[in-house]
Amino acid sequence: MQKIKYCPKCQKQYGINQEKCECGYEFVKLESHEDETVQSSNTKVIVDNVPLWIWTFLGFITESVCGWIFYAKFRESYPERSKAARKGAISFYIFLGVVILVTVLYLVLDAKGKIV
Ligand SMILES: [Zn+2]
Repeated sequence: MQKIKYCPKCQKQYGINQEKCECGYEFVKLESHEDETVQSSNTKVIVDNVPLWIWTFLGFITESVCGWIFYAKFRESYPERSKAARKGAISFYIFLGVVILVTVLYLVLDAKGKIV
C-alpha cells in the first residue's frame, strides 16, 4: 500500500516522502516511528562470572553432597552450573567406586597372601 499525502494549500497529491510542494508549501517531515529503538530487553542474559569447574570441584570434594544441592539449586537459573555440579557429583561416585575396587582387590590379594 502506497502512502500518499495532500498539500493543504493546493490539494496536490504526493508520495509520503515528498518534502516540498510545487506551490512552495513545505511538508512537515513525518518522523517515522519505526521500532528501531525498542530493545529486545525481555531476553534475560545471564552473565556468569564463576568458572564452571568450581562447581564440579565443589560437587566432587564435598563427597557429592554439594554437587546434588547445586544441581537442584541451579537447575532453573544456571543450567551450566547445574550440569557442572552434577558432573562433580558423578565424578565422586566414580572415584569412590575405583577406591573401593582397589581396596577390595588389595584385601582379597592380601588374604590370599599374594602381597608380602
Ligand atoms: Zn501545494
